[in-house]
Amino acid sequence: MQAPTPAALDAFWMPFTANRKFKRDPRFVTGAQGMHYTMSDGSQVLDGIAGLWCVNAGHRHPAISAALKQQIDTLDYASNFQLGHPAAFTLAERLADWAPADLNRVFFTNSGSESVDTALKIALAWHRARGDAGRYRLIGRARAYHGVGFGGISVAGIAKHRNAFGPLLNGVDHLPHTHDPKRNAFSRGEPLHGVEHADALEAICAVHDPATIAAVIVEPIAGSTGVLPPPVGYLTRLREICDRHGILLIFDEVITGFGRLGARFAADRFGVVPDLMATAKGLTNGAIPMGAVFVREAIHAGFMQGSEAGVEFAHGYTYSGHPLACAAALATLQVHQEEDLAGQCAAIAPYFEDVLHALRGEPAVADVRNLGLLGAVELSPFPGRPGVRAQAVERRCLEQGLLVRALGETIAVSPPLVVSRDQLAGLAETLRAALRHVDAAGPDA
Ligand code: PMP
Repeated sequence: MQAPTPAALDAFWMPFTANRKFKRDPRFVTGAQGMHYTMSDGSQVLDGIAGLWCVNAGHRHPAISAALKQQIDTLDYASNFQLGHPAAFTLAERLADWAPADLNRVFFTNSGSESVDTALKIALAWHRARGDAGRYRLIGRARAYHGVGFGGISVAGIAKHRNAFGPLLNGVDHLPHTHDPKRNAFSRGEPLHGVEHADALEAICAVHDPATIAAVIVEPIAGSTGVLPPPVGYLTRLREICDRHGILLIFDEVITGFGRLGARFAADRFGVVPDLMATAKGLTNGAIPMGAVFVREAIHAGFMQGSEAGVEFAHGYTYSGHPLACAAALATLQVHQEEDLAGQCAAIAPYFEDVLHALRGEPAVADVRNLGLLGAVELSPFPGRPGVRAQAVERRCLEQGLLVRALGETIAVSPPLVVSRDQLAGLAETLRAALRHVDAAGPDA
């Protein structure tokens, strides 16, 4: 594939990217295999972030590629509106078997953003279906990311994702985030302090009347806002407060689902069962877009009463349960089962923790956090230059053959779950060298 022409560079408005900066010094990926990307100059780069937290089985897994090739030659497209194709039902059944507890009804989407908005809509509509239309409030958290749909940006707490767009959903409130670098710096796994942040939900209930609250949505581990594992006991307490007040609990498991925490889902890892679970990314190993919302059986049943003539939930996408996506997801589930990706993750996570925390002595390192194969190294910023250090470290790592991701002051690391110890050791050493290089070169290098 030829490098893009200047006109082609202009034409593509890249998502979540400083377009002008990128286009002055563009970098292109032209291939991938296993743990590595191939760059346009032929160099190999270790993918330290599994694409965008999605390629859990490694790139171009042969079983997933084969399933896609076979599917495109059999059935390219069929809708699931008033018609169906078998793979969507088979996939739903397999996912239901795989999911925690009774989260055994599955609604298909095409992305994490769609899964989040779908879950919010199911929550609102379920209360109405029960005759409890007074429950309209949605509670998210500060420092949360739930995709870019209007529902998702309303419940998420990132100012710059919201404030360009005017008024968003009505009746949204936010819990504080749980990040507490003073008490919890360099914690391994769940931080010890901060369970009391969950009590802010009681405070919101006191202010608003809990009978007006439909649902609370949280990422079990906040991902894009800097990898923030929940304090010990926090999710359990949220669950208890929700139960006390008849509020639905939604987990956004777009990142944490499908093995990344060393269990199938964060719900399994933390022993807390939500009412709805939004997923995407790892569902197809990133090979093709797909999302899925897992719904408790009793909630789904609330929509299945009364006359059979009408539409039960007025929502869906042209590509809900697309045949190609179903083929990729079925193959991905098979890979999970045959290769025990969650088990591989659990087995190597302590080593990942050790190599990341070994960076603690570097002068620029302010904090290290991790759980499963999700990790973050937070840096102290260059004075008056927010984000510049982390971006420089990201750039230097790429020059040295390692892809990591700068998120504010934090370097996020989330390799495919099939990463080896040697690769993790190499990743940490490249990161260490990059930290030192950037320290020596300064903010204007
Ligand atoms: N929720 C979470 C927790 C995410 O991390 C993301 C994507 N990073 C999304 C939702 C949105 O997913 P998508 O980009 O597939 O819409």
